[in-house]
Parts: sequence; structure tokens; C-alpha cells
Amino acid sequence: MSTTIPKQKIIIVGGGCFGLSSAYALSLKPEYEVWVYDRLPIPVPDAASTDVNKIVRADYGDDTLYMHLMFEAFPLWHQFNKEREALGQSPVFHQSGVLLLSSNGSYSPFEQASLKSIREAGHGYAIEEFLTPESIVSRFPQFKGAVDRGYDIGYLNKEGGWCNSREAVVHMYNKCISQGVRFVTGSGQGEFGSLFCPESSRIVRGIVTKDGQVHLADRVLLATGAWSAGVVDMKKLVTATGQAVVHFEPKGTMLNQFQSADCPVWCGDLSRTGFYGFPANAEGKMKVGIHNAGYLWPRESDQVSVPRTQVTHTDDTIPLNGLRQFRQFLGGFLPETSALDITYSRLCWYSDAIDGQFVIDYHPDYENLIVATGDSGHGMKFIPNIGMHIRDVIEGRATDYTRRWAWRQLETSETKLDGLRSGNEVKRGIIASEQEGMRLVELDELKASRPQL
Ligand SMILES: Cc1cc2nc3c(=O)[nH]c(=O)nc-3n(C[C@H](O)[C@H](O)[C@H](O)COP(=O)(O)OP(=O)(O)OC[C@H]3O[C@@H](n4cnc5c(N)ncnc54)[C@H](O)[C@@H]3O)c2cc1C
Repeated sequence: MSTTIPKQKIIIVGGGCFGLSSAYALSLKPEYEVWVYDRLPIPVPDAASTDVNKIVRADYGDDTLYMHLMFEAFPLWHQFNKEREALGQSPVFHQSGVLLLSSNGSYSPFEQASLKSIREAGHGYAIEEFLTPESIVSRFPQFKGAVDRGYDIGYLNKEGGWCNSREAVVHMYNKCISQGVRFVTGSGQGEFGSLFCPESSRIVRGIVTKDGQVHLADRVLLATGAWSAGVVDMKKLVTATGQAVVHFEPKGTMLNQFQSADCPVWCGDLSRTGFYGFPANAEGKMKVGIHNAGYLWPRESDQVSVPRTQVTHTDDTIPLNGLRQFRQFLGGFLPETSALDITYSRLCWYSDAIDGQFVIDYHPDYENLIVATGDSGHGMKFIPNIGMHIRDVIEGRATDYTRRWAWRQLETSETKLDGLRSGNEVKRGIIASEQEGMRLVELDELKASRPQL
């Protein structure tokens, strides 16, 4: 006689990288019934996870925890590609290598520490160093302009590359569907309104969606990315920060060089400048981003910063000071871009943790409520495996990862940027405000003829 064990119902709010990866990991265990709610159909256009590409790198300076997490993820990325190949789909992970250039003949402390960590962990085989300007140009002629302007030493980490992050989301979503995960999406029915805590208790019994419906669950996981602090009291542990990205569409030789199969992801002295960029994709779009303190968009009711995106503000671009930073940096790194229009720009929103570490733990104010957020701008590369670690948190299993990401109480004054942001000061302007440089630029100002410098 077989007995049926009652399943535990888990509601996950948020169908981005953290939410989908968790849904998949939970669905592998028969004891869970998993439901995912999102305010929009997946892939959600303004989710941080939905993008043309994201860096997949193991270079984390002396922070070996994330380096090891990445080495756990690499085989799973290759597995994704195999699964897709079997279905006749294009790969999601492109192992182009990540080229980390430093300037003036010496590595910055970040690159030095990354090289040391990677070698000590036994992955030195993946490193190819370029210790002279000539060696960089002969292997990567597309960076001649950068080399001529002092970016003259670097290394390629051949394990890394980039993912088509929108497609990676779709792939994980499809894996969830095949595992029986249920999805409810769309404003109203899929949008989280509040926690369901009967009799004003702090015991979470489910969620109430914006259409007023109650959905019962044994546990609720909030994986709401940059929206998190606007959804539940995160006690200032995380802040939604907008981060600027731009696209170019080069032509001719530049397109050929940046679209070639061996064009790597590049980091332009990342820990000093914050700038990084990608090969041109199949449609010829070449994305460049900056990893810095970012911008805020405080909502009126309580001044908590929340994402302002092109879903609700269709014509939004990037702030003027961001445009100036891009044009200035790129003029000295990829000078060819000075003659190119920026064909697209947007702010993409981080859930920026006060100390740059993920925040994955039970919420201290409630029972049965877990938060998985605080991606701090570097979570996408872990979509294949972050969910397994989130599952550990849900199940109360202590590991080096769960200890690092545990809820901590820090004061705003303790905010520090991770070592990869340009500038050390945590100064964040309010977008679309009267503050200097914060107005969002007009489309015309993105043209090469309007450099705004
Ligand atoms: C400019 C930029 C560049 C980045 N570059 C990299 C990179 O190169 N490499 C890398 O590894 N990572 C990168 N990241 C970080 C990466 O994108 C994030 O770490 C990751 O996408 C976070 O996933 P998430 O699931 O937490 O959030 P999201 O992907 O934002 O998902 C959150 C989901 O929650 C949903 N949601 C929010 N509120 C509600 C509600 N009330 N009800 C229902 N659903 C709701 C949203 O609709 C959304 O789908 C970058 C991020 C940005 C912004």
C-alpha cells in the first residue's frame, strides 16, 4: 500500500534569475508544490535578468566564495547548452573568455588577487596573460585604441564569457514548466500585494495578489529583485539602484572585429573605472555598461527607492551625467565609438546590498517568509545553481554560502561599494530630478553628433 505524503506548498514571488532557479531546485524534490507569481509574463521585460547579455566570470578578486560558486555553475551552463542543442536551440552560454585589461603596465589589486585566487584553486590553466601592449594587440586587434591609451596589460580568463540572459531565463522557465512548477503572471493576478498573515500575526500563510485574491502557502519566498525593498521592509539592507547601459551598432571592420567568435567580454580596468562591455551579438548590438553606485528613484509614500523602467516610462533613457561618463571613458578606450550613435540606453536595476553580498535568509520579522535578493549586480551568472543554495536556506541547511548571505543588521553609514565600482564614495543622485546631471537625456543627445562633454 502506498502512502501519499502531503506536499508543502511554496509560493515564489518573482520569476527572474533567483526566483526561477529556486523554483527549479525545489521542483526536483517530490515534497514541494511550487508556484511562481510575477507581475508580468516571463521573461519580464524590465527584470534585471532579462537582457541581451550578462558577464559570466569567475574573477572575484580575493572573494573566493563567489569564485567557487562560479566554478560550480560552469558545467551547468554547458549542460544548458547541451539541452538546447538537443532541442535545436541556440546556446545560451558563450565561452568567449573574459579579458581583464589594466592600465600603465601593472595590474590593479583586483586583477592581482583574482589571478592568485584562480591559480590557487587549481584553475590556472584557464589564464592567458598579456604582459606587453604588442601581445594584446596581436591577439585582440579590436583593443588597439585602448592599448594605445595605456590599457597595456591584461589577462584572458578562458573559462568565462557571456550568457544571453533573456534566453537563459526562458530556458530555466521551460525547465520549471517541465518539472510541474505552476506560474501565475500579469498585473492583478500575478502581482504581489501583501503577505497573508491571519489575525494580524507575523505568521505568513500565503500572499494576497493585487486582484485581492488570497493564495495559501506553507512558505513564501520573495525573489523580487530590485523591487524587494518596496515590497517588504528590508531594513535598509538593500536599495534599488539604477545602472546605466548603452548599445552601439558598429559597422564594417569594427563590427567584424567585435562579432568574431573569439572576441571576448572586456573589462576596462574594472575596479578603477567600472566599465565593461561585450562582443557584438548576432543582431550587431554591442552593449557597454558601468558598474558604479548607480541612481535612486525614491517613491513618494516613504522615500524607498524603487525601479523606474521603460515598462511604465517608455521614453526613459539614462541621466546626462551617465551619458557624459560613457562618452568620456569610451573616447579613451574604444575611440571608434565616438563616431557612433548610441542606439539604445536604459537603466537596469540592482537590488544593491549594503555590503555587496546576496541577502538570502528567513526574514527576521516573520515566520515562513524567506527573501532571496541583494544581487548587487552580479547574480545572473549563477542562474544554473543559485536556486540550490536558496533551497538550502529554505530547508535550514547551514553552508559557507548560507552563512555569508544570512540576514545581518547594518547601518546605512556602513554602506560600502564592492571593490569593482568606480569611485569609493557612495553618492547616488535621484534620476529625473533637478539635481545636477540627473535629467534623462533626449534620444537626440545619444547621437555621436551630440557628445555632451
Ligand atoms: C545593468 C546590469 C548589469 C548586470 N550585469 C551582470 C553581469 O554582467 N553578470 C551577472 O552575473 N549579473 C549581472 N547583473 C545582475 C543580474 O542581472 C541580477 O543579479 C539578477 O538578474 C537578479 O535576479 P533577480 O531574480 O533577483 O531579479 P529580477 O531578474 O529583477 O527579477 C525580479 C522579478 O520580480 C518580479 N516582481 C517584482 N515585484 C513584484 C511583485 N510585486 N509581484 C510579482 N512579481 C514581482 C519582477 O517582475 C521580476 O520579474 C546585472 C544587472 C544590471 C541591472
